[in-house]
Amino acid sequence: MALLQISEPGMSPEPHQRRLAVGIDLGTTNSLVAAVRSGVADVLPDELGRPLLPSVVRYRDDGPVEVGHVAWECASEDPRNTIVSVKRYMGRGLADATRHPSPYTFVDAPGMVRIRTDFGERSPVEVSAEILRVLRARAEASLGGELVGAVITVPAYFDDAQRQATKDAARLAGLEVLRLLNEPTAAAIAYGLDHASEGVYAVYDLGGGTFDISVLRLTKGVFEVIATGGDTALGGDDFDRRLGDFFVAEGGLGELAPDDLRRVLKAARLAKESLSEHPEARIEARIVGRGLVSVPVTAVQFHAMTRDLLDRTLDTVRRTLRDANLAAAQIEGVVLVGGATRMPQLREAVGAVFGRPALIDLDPDKVVALGAAVQANLLAGNRGEDGDDWLLLDVIPLSLGLETMGGLVEKIIPRNATIPVARAQEFTTYKDGQTAMALHVVQGERELVADCRSLARFELRGIPPMAAGAGRIRVTFQVDADGLLSVTAREQSQGIEASIAVKPSYGLSDDEIARMLQESFGTAEIDMKARALREQQVDADRLLQATQVALEADGDLLDAAEREAIAAAMRELRAVSQADDARAIEARIADLARGTEAFAARRMDRAVRQALSGRRLDEIG
Ligand code: ADP
Ligand code: MG
Repeated sequence: MALLQISEPGMSPEPHQRRLAVGIDLGTTNSLVAAVRSGVADVLPDELGRPLLPSVVRYRDDGPVEVGHVAWECASEDPRNTIVSVKRYMGRGLADATRHPSPYTFVDAPGMVRIRTDFGERSPVEVSAEILRVLRARAEASLGGELVGAVITVPAYFDDAQRQATKDAARLAGLEVLRLLNEPTAAAIAYGLDHASEGVYAVYDLGGGTFDISVLRLTKGVFEVIATGGDTALGGDDFDRRLGDFFVAEGGLGELAPDDLRRVLKAARLAKESLSEHPEARIEARIVGRGLVSVPVTAVQFHAMTRDLLDRTLDTVRRTLRDANLAAAQIEGVVLVGGATRMPQLREAVGAVFGRPALIDLDPDKVVALGAAVQANLLAGNRGEDGDDWLLLDVIPLSLGLETMGGLVEKIIPRNATIPVARAQEFTTYKDGQTAMALHVVQGERELVADCRSLARFELRGIPPMAAGAGRIRVTFQVDADGLLSVTAREQSQGIEASIAVKPSYGLSDDEIARMLQESFGTAEIDMKARALREQQVDADRLLQATQVALEADGDLLDAAEREAIAAAMRELRAVSQADDARAIEARIADLARGTEAFAARRMDRAVRQALSGRRLDEIG
């Protein structure tokens, strides 16, 4: 019952030969690689048995690049050359990259920032590729062969530029990307929810720097993501910072030097993780000029100082459920993902919101990589044990649309539409004899282009000249399984076509996505008014233009008084058309339309007479 073929073309399995494919969780804080062996998904550890690879890359002049634990150890000593949380900069411009404090010097570059180290500039794609290279080598060593490819997970909120950057990093690391997969979706697969009875499930993912919530619906073996939400500027790191602030206050320390700050945050993280198991812990860090500072903290204190962070995630959960039109009681099960969901107070709070304990059978750090491995195995053409072909649908995080007259947005693919998806809509030409059409692709929830994000512009040329409104242009938006968009415009009478694949040069910041969604909730009414106004303004322009053309062509049908009356009505309409009173414009449009009725009738008569002149009556009958 495959509604959607998920095997790539040319990827059918060769008999008796398993194709090696892995799932990779390329995390902000930690990355993992997993594979299905003997029908079971497993995380592949390093030679010391450690499953997690810290997503940290250190550049040096006297040796190869360091990646993972070794690099993480040096983060305090060599912050400028040790890149942590590089995922935050994937597909991002300078403004986004510098929004949060970091020890890095960023260099503006087309498409994406670059990070200046003492040994040269590096793009976030190159840094991520270093991490992927290590995971690939680890996988090939433990699986004993070359990989046919990998499924790499990305946050549900990653936009086109961020997804493209992730693919580029994989290519640079010599990895074939079988598919990008949203992280919460991968987690659901790991839990085998695709085999579960029908129902709606939620995935709550709190990692080091991001929070995602997804709602999935399972119907007759079809696995569909029906809503996603999140706060990608919120994660375990924020809990560390609260403990760090506590440490500074309790220890009587002032402003910390960058090196000290990193050491404190590291100590805070250790204390936080310890508090998941013990009622008390100590935050201990060496501070320049002070020596070792040790501050005790209890779990109760920790919970109190971070309760608002937890509450923020729960607010997002409630909003996403509202979005999906669901009550918490309708959720069949809740999956916890991300290292930060080890915190017991969090588990309790999430359980309380949903009215049932969350699923925690699988290691929350590993769930995403495990699910990616399961899907990689299927995409590589290795059938599951039970031979079933389930399918998987993801959603568009922000609506995609086109700019229309008056700076309005026509949404073509709505937010939360499942992907892959293709939608088409027909547009008409606006002017007589128009031979080109400018297309502006935008992303966002608002009604006005100015409030949305510009993704791409292109032109369709060679439209045969026709009367305004007669040219028909069909515009198709297509989003592939990886969330990448292509837009095609096709003139219907002659089939002239133009298209664009959207790889926007600048990523949308997490904050920005959150803000755009937030705004769209509170501004629906304002937007409706703005849309009404713009529509009136467009109508006014169109009528003024048509009247002008008519006057030039057939002005001789009017006497001086009639001409002056029409000119006056035009002046009045022009006077109000740029102000912000939609009703005034509407009224003046009606006046002008009424004032030109007789003129229009005479023009019609003349046109009919001209058409008939020289033809015999029997020709017409
Ligand atoms: P990411 O998806 O950002 O790569 P992870 O899922 O690996 O992140 O989660 C990393 C976060 O989980 C860090 O903030 C880390 O401190 C936190 N974490 C890991 N183990 C624990 C624990 N036992 N208790 C609390 N937090 C933990
Ligand atoms: Mg993660």
